Amino acid sequence: MKPRIIYGPILSRRLGRSLGIDVIKRGETKKNCNFDCVYCQLGHVDKMVSRPEDAKGIVTTEEVVEGLKNYHRKVEDLDYITFSGTCEPTLNLNLGEMIREIKNISDLPVCVITNSSLMGEEKVRDNLKNADLVVATLVSGNEKTFKAINRPVEGIKLEEIIEGLKALKKLDGPKLAIEVMFIGSSKEYPVNTTDEEIDKLIEVLTAIDPDEIEVLTTSRPPAEDFIVPVPDSRLKEIAQKFDESFGRHRVRLVLKGLKRKRSSIQHENLVDEVYDLILRRPCTFKQTSSSLDIDETDLLPIIGNLLAEGRIIEIESKNGKYYRAT
Ligand code: SF4
Repeated sequence: MKPRIIYGPILSRRLGRSLGIDVIKRGETKKNCNFDCVYCQLGHVDKMVSRPEDAKGIVTTEEVVEGLKNYHRKVEDLDYITFSGTCEPTLNLNLGEMIREIKNISDLPVCVITNSSLMGEEKVRDNLKNADLVVATLVSGNEKTFKAINRPVEGIKLEEIIEGLKALKKLDGPKLAIEVMFIGSSKEYPVNTTDEEIDKLIEVLTAIDPDEIEVLTTSRPPAEDFIVPVPDSRLKEIAQKFDESFGRHRVRLVLKGLKRKRSSIQHENLVDEVYDLILRRPCTFKQTSSSLDIDETDLLPIIGNLLAEGRIIEIESKNGKYYRAT
């Protein structure tokens, strides 16, 4: 089956209704990434991509524009066009050109969700400068903890990521939101919730000076069984410390059970849309229904068929039953 590169629209708490774009085609590997995060909801990276030049299945600007033109006509009120999905978007060096071309055919704001790994490279920052919003991950200000949690491919250094994020902010281009994924562990393993880690994060975030900082924890089944969500009480304490340093208006605390914006989505092919959503992130039945704005009675047979065809599997987690793409 030909891999899809445009999917959605999907409802999310941050971006409202967004159309997603994958800029590396999903081939033999489940995801194209240069990290292998312990909390990754897509499971383990079988084969990490070291450099943008090594990425296979690179999508062209023409493919994105063509895909978007065809999709775009059928979607009435999107809030964002988002580069994310099953790959790290900055691994595609056509990203800057894609954003410029999208801006020529659409007034919608463009968001790039990145793991920050290549932020130290000027050409990568240059590719991001015309986006409206960059949501960048940063889990720690300490190299050792960063390596333990994000498990980057060899050669990626936290110091260069931090310098790159500072330089991106100085470009006066996209709004910069830093997403800090906090994790707990059921065994002896470096985590980023200790007081020392929080103090270091505050020091580093002060230097980066982002427009927004998001405090959250894992909610979907992680790649490693020993990774557990951080309790709400500790997340609130961390958010409180961040509030004191950065001001409450810049700190966004994400707890479970958030309300989503509701709106009606026009569907073209429900089966593909359900599969695309689960491919990007494992979802419970309820999450699938609310993310795509599908009635549960319509969703039931679709999930049943996808399971029967072996395209998705059920996985049990502490938060209930999830569906994940195979
Ligand atoms: S969480 Fe994101 S950055 Fe980390 S391995 Fe998964 S896809 Fe890559």
